[in-house]
Amino acid sequence: MEYKIALIPGDGIGPEIVREARKVLDAVCAKFGHTFSYSEVLLGGASIDVHGIPLTEDAVDTAKGSDAVLMGSIGGDAKTSPWYQLEPDKRPEAGLLAIRKALNLFANLRPAYLYQELKEACPLKEEIIGEGFDMIIVRELTGGLYFGERKTTEENGIKTAVDTLSYNENEIRRIAVKAFDIAMKRRKKVTSVDKANVLDSSRLWRSIVEEVAEDYPEVTLEHMLVDNCAMQLVHDPAQFDVILTENMFGDILSDEASMVTGSIGMLSSASLNDTKFGLYEPSHGSAPDIAGQNKANPIATILSAAMMLRYSLDLDKEADAVEEAVQKVLADGWRTGDIMSEGCMLTGTEQMGDLIAAAV
Ligand code: NAD
Repeated sequence: MEYKIALIPGDGIGPEIVREARKVLDAVCAKFGHTFSYSEVLLGGASIDVHGIPLTEDAVDTAKGSDAVLMGSIGGDAKTSPWYQLEPDKRPEAGLLAIRKALNLFANLRPAYLYQELKEACPLKEEIIGEGFDMIIVRELTGGLYFGERKTTEENGIKTAVDTLSYNENEIRRIAVKAFDIAMKRRKKVTSVDKANVLDSSRLWRSIVEEVAEDYPEVTLEHMLVDNCAMQLVHDPAQFDVILTENMFGDILSDEASMVTGSIGMLSSASLNDTKFGLYEPSHGSAPDIAGQNKANPIATILSAAMMLRYSLDLDKEADAVEEAVQKVLADGWRTGDIMSEGCMLTGTEQMGDLIAAAV
């Protein structure tokens, strides 16, 4: 099959890690007989340097005209980079928010998977880690408290601030459908997280999620209150497969879940719209402190590419091959500096990409 991929190298370590992910995708093409045609898109500081703005309409059109977008990371050192002398809406991060909005990316996916080989990086006790864990957080990204009306007023010298948490049933339904679709590709369990003992928006959330669940008889649905979920993530993380939740709860829980895996250079993510289209990127930033030194761990970006194969291109076998290749290279003892431990072999960005591509 032929697919069009938009590549956003971005800034800092972005170009280095995207290059390695592309190498791995080329290995997938060679093995499975696909053709990927790539278009490079400028975003963030890289776009400011060429066009004076962090995102152009042409860039959005190229992204929209592709089957999926794979991104490195954007941004520079806020203290030293001239990009941060610009008005806030002209800085690198403004380009990222703008492209997410332009592409209508309402579903954010963040897997938290503990590699047995990296168990030492996990801050949890051995008896809690057990056989490891493998979950994915599906977070609503464009509604709820962060997008509701807000105001601060003052009466009789007393200031009052109000933020509004609102969801309509369509917003809930479309993110719930994403979570159930994803569960069908995994262990077929959805934990919907809310605060239905207090919030009206959560009670509506619960009832719509139950409606959607009726279309997925193979998937087990459970509801969990957000405070309990925060505890369960560090008490028994292996119980989770897909966690479905609204924007703010997802913001907090996805950081908690990723921390228990212990290594930022390993964490992939995806943001999807209501078609198969998505933007895939590592969870980390552009790490300007190690840019251009062949030190960056490319695995988060390579695993993001695997998510792209699975969720936007429906190439599950190919995604498995990439994930297994990462596992094999780790099992063979290869490590970049950020995940290095005693007895392992230190390698650079480029060599890590070569090893994973070869293992595919
Ligand atoms: P960061 O994630 O870039 O770096 C934090 C620390 O982790 C640094 O020490 C860095 O060297 C290390 N690190 C990160 N990724 C690594 C990798 N793949 N391999 C090895 N080490 C890695 O966060 P920061 O320093 O707070 O931000 C730097 C820039 O990135 C800022 O401009 C910020 O705005 C931007 N940023 C961009 C995104 C994005 O593009 N989505 C996300 C977060 C931050």
